[in-house]
Amino acid sequence: SRTLTRLTAQPPDAILELISLHAQDERERKIDLGVGVYRDEAGVTPVFAAVKAAEDRLLRSQTTKSYLGPEGDIEFFRRLLPLALGSDVAAERVAGMQTPGGTGALRIGAELIAAANPNARVHVGAPTWPNHAPIFAAARLELVEHPYLDPANQTVRFGDMMAALEKAAARDVVLLHGCCHNPTGADLDAVQWQAVARLCAERGLLPFIDFAYHGLGDGLEADRQGLACVARHCPEAIVAYSCDKNFGLYRERVGALFVLAADRSDAALAQSNLLSLARANWSMPPDHGAAIVRLILEREELSALWREELENMRRRIAAMREGLARLDPALAFLTRQKGMFSTLDLTPRQVAALREEHAVYVAGTGRINIAGLAPHDLQAFAAALAAVR
Ligand code: PLP
Repeated sequence: SRTLTRLTAQPPDAILELISLHAQDERERKIDLGVGVYRDEAGVTPVFAAVKAAEDRLLRSQTTKSYLGPEGDIEFFRRLLPLALGSDVAAERVAGMQTPGGTGALRIGAELIAAANPNARVHVGAPTWPNHAPIFAAARLELVEHPYLDPANQTVRFGDMMAALEKAAARDVVLLHGCCHNPTGADLDAVQWQAVARLCAERGLLPFIDFAYHGLGDGLEADRQGLACVARHCPEAIVAYSCDKNFGLYRERVGALFVLAADRSDAALAQSNLLSLARANWSMPPDHGAAIVRLILEREELSALWREELENMRRRIAAMREGLARLDPALAFLTRQKGMFSTLDLTPRQVAALREEHAVYVAGTGRINIAGLAPHDLQAFAAALAAVR
């Protein structure tokens, strides 16, 4: 009468296999575009100087590690709100809390929706971040995919997307990437955001914005314009925010869930449900990373340093995109796309040839991490791509 033997084995993460192949490859010049994190020109995922300075302060000033509440660091949340949503959103409309990363925010946001409307379907463009499916499935919500990227033209299939959303039922959820779409880099433009926001408002759809790469596209202000447009048009919206990329805090697991409600009383209802959901999930989120972000946002000089470091990351990614476009006109689309990722229109055979013949590591889906490139890689990468095509 054993229990565990009844389990079904689950497939391993495809990226892990790529990492191990890359580690075993003994060729001298390897290019690793499979990773999911930012890397600098030296191939390092650095700790921000602003983070080190905040950690230093924290080490000297923290007097207790006693529990916080299920909402985590309230001052972190209060300071992050205008940064994430802009200063036009009235705080009294907003419920929410600190979460373990953007993943925790997505999960608890999904559970909040399931508690309010278990029959809600979640509409999302394909391809999307592979973890969206299991996260929403864990909250017992049905995910429905519509086309998003046209891989041959590297454009958003906006007509198909709108046609799919036109057919959605009232109170269904529309899952959108705030900026720097993962895995395609293809973001909606301002006109498209407005059309989606209007459609959501007209048809009573609930926008759920996954905002994991704030500041890595066109900058902090420009990157929240889509979200701001949704907040203006729609009475309700949910935002899952991650500080793990834009503060380089990955393993510290820093994020927040923002729930925009129609009024103060709905916001209070949402808040009481979130607190109870958090208690059942993780009781309270880990403190260290959020305390770092709070300190950075509280202190003018640390904020300025962080913004400068983030801007340097953003510029480096944009420069790699421009460098590739200059080398090969067929890659010009990369400069219209934002953030670390794009998805190339490659067959599995071409992906294998890149790896075997050119020591270029690309995810099986064709996703590349632009931040895996240093300036001295550009020529070799463009040549390898041309050779396998
Ligand atoms: N959403 C998207 C689109 C992501 O790419 C990621 C991370 O890769 C996340 C959410 C989750 O981020 P976190 O590490 O903060 O949980």
